[in-house]
Amino acid sequence: MFAINNSIEKKIYKKIKEYPKIVIARHVGPDPDAIASTTALRDSIRLTFPEKEVVAVGLGVSKFKYYGILDKIEASDFKDSLLIVLDVPNLARVDGIEGLEYKEIMKIDHHPAEDIKGPVDWTNEKSCSTCQMIAELILKTPLKLDTKIAGNLYLGIVSDSDRFLLPYTTNETFKVVHDLIRASKLEFTSLYNYLYDRSIDEVRFQGYLATNMKVSENGLGSIIIPSDVIKEYHVDLATPANLINNFNFIREVLVWTFITEDVKNNVYKVSIRSHGPVINEVASKYHGGGHKYASGARITSEEEIEAFLQDLDTLCEEYKRASISNL
Ligand code: AMP
Repeated sequence: MFAINNSIEKKIYKKIKEYPKIVIARHVGPDPDAIASTTALRDSIRLTFPEKEVVAVGLGVSKFKYYGILDKIEASDFKDSLLIVLDVPNLARVDGIEGLEYKEIMKIDHHPAEDIKGPVDWTNEKSCSTCQMIAELILKTPLKLDTKIAGNLYLGIVSDSDRFLLPYTTNETFKVVHDLIRASKLEFTSLYNYLYDRSIDEVRFQGYLATNMKVSENGLGSIIIPSDVIKEYHVDLATPANLINNFNFIREVLVWTFITEDVKNNVYKVSIRSHGPVINEVASKYHGGGHKYASGARITSEEEIEAFLQDLDTLCEEYKRASISNL
């Protein structure tokens, strides 16, 4: 009944079958795609193989508790386990695996490949989300699905594709979503509150960002957000990254970046988005990375902020010049 030939899905399924103990992890500072893909895969493996010990690790985020509670483990209990990392290409950004002596690592991710490379590796930069890949894995193998697992995957896909509007959204995305809904009988419209519920403080903070964002002649939108403003609006350090997609489709803005002061860690957390120039190379220059049009970085000084903004502005300028000469 399952069309699993020698596909990557089959290889992953065989690895999962082989190990009695499995640890699933994702990136630090998780978003809905990272959290939902981890708990969905954990719950599907548990449902399919009740005898296995399967855990999803990493720091919990209270506003994402709908997706399921993460597991607290003693690393020594999971010696020689299979470690599956989701939604993250580099080991340094994997959360919750300190001291874990795993036997093999397997990655399923839609970011450009970096240093994590196990014997079985599924990297698909063309996928809109890691949840889309986990949904494909479950739909194409004997891994089981229930309504809760399907709901988590659906929300991860909707969130990372920004409601099917980012360029990574393809006919494959719609096919997977169609198959997911049909297989689980998911009533998906009732789930949106879990993604889009927000406080009036957050809405007011979005107003602050819109009012104070500078826009350069070349089309760079930027704002440096002092920690006092985060306090004043009763939001947290993750809020700017949650709001940045709302600044898409502004006529005068090609690339936009939010630079948030994190006093406790003595660093600026940076989110960058683009609807033209490829930005992840600039992000890598500033301790970051990510996708071509959605990246993040970490900056440690004001001089570095200036250089970073200059690099992004130059990118916009070059992009505009190239677009004009292609007319
Ligand atoms: P954010 O703006 O935090 O939503 O991040 C956008 C994208 O960039 C996500 O795919 C993140 O995983 C990635 N990203 C964010 N920060 C970093 C970083 N410091 N290093 C590498 N990738 C990052």
